[in-house]
Amino acid sequence: PGEAVLRRQRIRESAARTYARSFPIVPVRANGMTVEGADGRRYLDCLSGAGTLALGHNHPVVLEAIRRTLDSGAPLHLLDLATAEKDDFTEALFAGLPSGFGENSRVHFCGPAGTDAVEAALKLMQTATGRRGALAFTGAYHGMTAGALAVTGNVAVKTPLPGGGEVTRLPYPYDYRCPFGVGGPAGAELAVTFTERLLDDPAGGVVKPAAMILEAVQGEGGVVPAPDGWLRAMRRITAERGIPLIVDEVQTGVGRTGAMWAVEHSGITPDAMVLSKAIGGSLPLAVVVYHEEYDGWRPGAHTGTFRGNTLAMAAGAATMRFVARQGLVERAAVVGDRITARLRALAAELPVIGDVRGRGLMIGVELVDPDAEADACGSRPAAPELAVRVREACLARGLIVELGGRHDAVLRLLPPLTITDEQTEAVLDRLADAVRAAAA
Ligand code: PMP
Repeated sequence: PGEAVLRRQRIRESAARTYARSFPIVPVRANGMTVEGADGRRYLDCLSGAGTLALGHNHPVVLEAIRRTLDSGAPLHLLDLATAEKDDFTEALFAGLPSGFGENSRVHFCGPAGTDAVEAALKLMQTATGRRGALAFTGAYHGMTAGALAVTGNVAVKTPLPGGGEVTRLPYPYDYRCPFGVGGPAGAELAVTFTERLLDDPAGGVVKPAAMILEAVQGEGGVVPAPDGWLRAMRRITAERGIPLIVDEVQTGVGRTGAMWAVEHSGITPDAMVLSKAIGGSLPLAVVVYHEEYDGWRPGAHTGTFRGNTLAMAAGAATMRFVARQGLVERAAVVGDRITARLRALAAELPVIGDVRGRGLMIGVELVDPDAEADACGSRPAAPELAVRVREACLARGLIVELGGRHDAVLRLLPPLTITDEQTEAVLDRLADAVRAAAA
């Protein structure tokens, strides 16, 4: 049955499909970290719906919340009407927000994808500041939408800010491939200096933007954690210049990095946070949270049909409460450190591993050409073909690991926060074996 499904979907589904190409399996059942294929084979899932599954697949707490909501007869679809489920989700969300988000915080429910919440955050700040444009970073990933508003005809929703304006791309402090050819704290410091000087240079070409948007740990960009000092500097730089700071926590949120929200490591309070993925407890949900002072939107300024699906709110509230109550945030930090330490030991033995980095259970392993000359930062050219072989070797050993990074040569580990010690050992063993086999 699996083969027939694969064949039909290969014909009928768009050529843009990605994961189906990387993992030619047909999952029929999933439980926790384990996915079972139609052929009866079992896999440990380190992709977790691209970082969505904080509690793994079909966690009993999530299933129970969904069943309870279904049995209650609550309407499943209501646009953005007030419901008990939305109220409960909002309570669960606000209870866990960083301390800088207090009673004066607001939440905006967006279309169900992270990319829509990113659009909403940018539009929010455009409205609040009356400016367009954004400061963004090399290696950033914030979504895939472009153009829907541009082709919309209703002038009322397009004005006063048609289009998003210019984007100024600034250097992200990616230590291993440092933008200034200098690694460590000195490289991050240069990224700060460059940013400040560019913004303050009247001939630097940067028109004062509506916002800066960044990821505290870049995910799709190759699992690149920004140093806390750099994040604090970005907070200072934006505050000094009256530029709102949006932090995209779509992938890093809900305990993934060993803090409920990644901004908490550095202690900064952004002006807005974009949240999706894990907040829906495996169902689609995306929101922006921000401070009251930016809430200058008129009704209908950023609408959408599916804004807060009842089941996703129930599943998400249950997930966030369970993560907080069960100490899974702390556990993500501890297990993440253990995995990272073990992978660093492996890197010392296997020169194809150029870098191991991450925060909590968001871990990247960058594969490189060991025979090439190292640059001043100690980095070697990326090895994307090897990375594909490692991914295949992982799959053959019952391990689902996806790639990322600008050269698609970074193995990304995003296991559920519920990963057991036994599963941790199995992941490490299978991964080490796969890298050895692929590099041989
Ligand atoms: N921001 C970040 C940091 C992401 O990782 C992603 C998705 N990987 C998005 C935004 C876009 O989310 P979605 O795919 O739900 O549109």
